[in-house]
Amino acid sequence: MPIFEYRCVAEGCPHCRAGFDQLERLGADPLTACPDCGAAVARVISAPNLAVGNAHVLKDGHAAKHGFTQYRKVGKGVYEKAFGKGPDVIKG
Ligand SMILES: [Zn+2]
Repeated sequence: MPIFEYRCVAEGCPHCRAGFDQLERLGADPLTACPDCGAAVARVISAPNLAVGNAHVLKDGHAAKHGFTQYRKVGKGVYEKAFGKGPDVIKG
């Protein structure tokens, strides 16, 4: 069974203000109210892939800060600048 994280969207109790995990049957209706105080809650969408993408961007930014320029091959003899200084596109 998947575990979903919920957090109150309005005034809630300490339980739902901090967010809580809820074990749910697959296909079950999402929880709409805090089991403790009854405040409206919403499912928190967690995106593990987003962290990976951000880490990549941070890495690129780090390299650019240190004066590196990176080009990505986008076609036959055509390179597009990913980051750094220099022309945006190089055609060989
Ligand atoms: Zn609550």
